[in-house]
Amino acid sequence: MTTCDLAKWTPETGVEPRLRVGVVLPSDQMQRIRLTIPDAPYRLLLDGRAGHAPPAGSAEVVCEGQRVRFRAADRTSEPAGILTIVPASEGPLQRGGGIEVRGVLTGRGFHWQKRTHFRIPGTIEFRVADDHLLVVNELPLEQYLTCVVTSEMSGACPLEFLKSQVLVARAWVLVHTEDKHPGLPIDRCNDDCCQRYQGTTFLTPSAIEAVRSTRGQAIFHAGGGIIDANYSKSCGGIIEAPELVWGVSKPGQRSAVDAPKNSTMQRFLPVTQEKLDEYLSGSWLAQTDCFCSPNIVPEDELPRYLGGVDVGGRYFRWTLRYNREDLEQILRNKVFNGQTPAAPEALATLTDLRPIRRGNSGRVIELAVDYLDPMGHSRVHTITDQHRIRDALHEKFLYSSAFDVRIERDNAGVPTHIKLVGAGWGHGAGLCQIGALGMALQGYDAASIVSHYFADVSIRTCY
Ligand SMILES: [Zn+2]
Ligand SMILES: [Zn+2]
Repeated sequence: MTTCDLAKWTPETGVEPRLRVGVVLPSDQMQRIRLTIPDAPYRLLLDGRAGHAPPAGSAEVVCEGQRVRFRAADRTSEPAGILTIVPASEGPLQRGGGIEVRGVLTGRGFHWQKRTHFRIPGTIEFRVADDHLLVVNELPLEQYLTCVVTSEMSGACPLEFLKSQVLVARAWVLVHTEDKHPGLPIDRCNDDCCQRYQGTTFLTPSAIEAVRSTRGQAIFHAGGGIIDANYSKSCGGIIEAPELVWGVSKPGQRSAVDAPKNSTMQRFLPVTQEKLDEYLSGSWLAQTDCFCSPNIVPEDELPRYLGGVDVGGRYFRWTLRYNREDLEQILRNKVFNGQTPAAPEALATLTDLRPIRRGNSGRVIELAVDYLDPMGHSRVHTITDQHRIRDALHEKFLYSSAFDVRIERDNAGVPTHIKLVGAGWGHGAGLCQIGALGMALQGYDAASIVSHYFADVSIRTCY
């Protein structure tokens, strides 16, 4: 079957692109990786020349200077600049199929960073880059998508929801041109920085079916190109415009209400300061037809459907109440830490949090932090960007910046508690995952879900 490198792919090529996924990066500072090779035919290539067939069982690849060497119990290869292990055939995917790579770092740089083992299909390439091991898994895009969808979603999800997810993920891979790993011969890494990829380890039949039944289909905007499709867990009721999240507009994306066209929710768009209280806590919430609301997707059922959600988590509407001292400590750690050039003065006492600008979904995109410095002088520090605001106001990360600030004060007017009443989880632009799940539960098909979250788009088969 003809294929082409992702970097050279366009819809006109008419073939499925191949993707190079970095599994071990030089920044992981590894000198060796352990493998378990299944009892299936593979070929070993040393700088493109055929070596012996790698035996089934445990093996490792080690760095020796600027070269790599394959070692198994009774066989050791010559050192090579590039060592490749190629399967005799490439599919179909099977759960747990492929070579096991052991001790791979995931969640790089996050508090959940850990080492895991997982099985990967396709070709695996080993070389030295920046004096450390680089391991690249090269495989067809459709196989990659099957593995990616599996790591985020559970088999309990309705098929039409999974298909909408695959369509969005495929569009994102096909058009996303931002090079997060400059200088490395990879298209994406295996981690949250790009999309989480853990091979065939958690493969489900419904993920396989969702990819198979949408094979080669991409979402095109009215201008003719494939959309740069974003998604987040819950918009909270209103889909945010990308220009209010990233400062750039994207064809096919816009703000809209996450409810049927005739919904009374239309009155909230955009969520201004005047409408905020009603939007966040009005009595309409009890019977709303909003697709991502608990009326459509009960929140206690979310863990069954979506990976990575907190059991018992409330995302559509949530409340967080801080002691002033606790929030001050978070702000000192995150913002007033000597590393934020615009906030050089130490924070002694927080006096107010004032949202200055909001997006269409009520997400705060500019926040003034009023405080007293250690000399008792009043100061203001402004935080722009919903991502930075969410980072600043939570020990880990705030669900979303669509919140109202309610401050309780003592008799002297000093805040005692700061309450954030909020909506949604994530940036809110593009596809709302919980809303898409709600639509699928109500019987909408994948094409209807896609055209609800994106404007003037069509789905076309590219290969
Ligand atoms: Zn990455
Ligand atoms: Zn939503």
